[in-house]
Amino acid sequence: MHELGAAVDLFKVVEKEARKNGLKKVSKVRVKLGEASGIKDDFLRHSFVDHIFPGSMAEGAELEIIEEKVNIVCKDCGARIDISKDDPSKCLACGGSSLEVTGGKDFCVDSIEGE
Ligand SMILES: [Zn+2]
Ligand SMILES: [Zn+2]
Repeated sequence: MHELGAAVDLFKVVEKEARKNGLKKVSKVRVKLGEASGIKDDFLRHSFVDHIFPGSMAEGAELEIIEEKVNIVCKDCGARIDISKDDPSKCLACGGSSLEVTGGKDFCVDSIEGE
């Protein structure tokens, strides 16, 4: 077993969407992946391209991963913290430590294309 369980579940959504839209073949799958979801994009890609797509209605489909950045907001003053640059343990604007993660947790199908 090499594939990600979460990717298998997500693919069920893809198949459902495809059926709903009358598609027989899926040529492109766009997935939204949050930085804070805990899922590695290369493992996700491997799961889809090497294990899930082959033999399915998305055989040979293109996978596009849209990375969603983590968004941390200070609950005290509303400032945003950029975790790629700043220390995420406290607010740089007011020094407060009640921080809230408001984005980057998504793992979902953004859209699909096919015919
Ligand atoms: Zn594998
Ligand atoms: Zn603050």
